[in-house]
Amino acid sequence: MNYYSAPIARLIDEFTKLPGIGRKTAQRLAFYVISLSIEDASQLSKAIIEAKKSIKYCSICTNLTDQDICTICKDKRRDASVICVVEDARDVIAMERTKEFHGFYHVLHGAISPLDGIGPEDIRIKELLARLQDNSVNEVILATNLNIEGEATAMYITRLLKPLGIRVTRIAHGIPVGGDLEYADEVTLAKALDGRREL
Ligand SMILES: [Zn+2]
Repeated sequence: MNYYSAPIARLIDEFTKLPGIGRKTAQRLAFYVISLSIEDASQLSKAIIEAKKSIKYCSICTNLTDQDICTICKDKRRDASVICVVEDARDVIAMERTKEFHGFYHVLHGAISPLDGIGPEDIRIKELLARLQDNSVNEVILATNLNIEGEATAMYITRLLKPLGIRVTRIAHGIPVGGDLEYADEVTLAKALDGRREL
């Protein structure tokens, strides 16, 4: 027996698809949306559609942006000799919050995970290699997560970059093993960056 009218049931179903949202929270969100004025509800749905329509990948670092080239890649004051490789666009934000890193980024959009069927060709490694062809980069900092997938990805990239004579380093200290970058506080992440080791 269905307790909800069809539109509410559908709204709950949609919220349930979101990460970290269980049935109960979905129900709470659905009832919250119903309680909104029609203007506020429109603002919410418009914000979702606008974000979805306008956000794309930066043509250089593949970070999320609403322009062709993201604001970080456009920043001429940054150090072009260092690239920090992260798994996710959220990790760029985490690194930026430390205010300790002034080079450029490369966003992989995932990590190598054979168990999930994600191989090197499924993440943006090719694009990283293409950026290193002109010899302007001296150091690549691997800031993938410190879990099995992140380590496997770091190892894979190290093997590709070593023959190119590029210094490859890995963040280490302070981030708990198995830890995701985006959940690390700024001080811990800044220390991890500072204490990076040569690979
Ligand atoms: Zn960019």
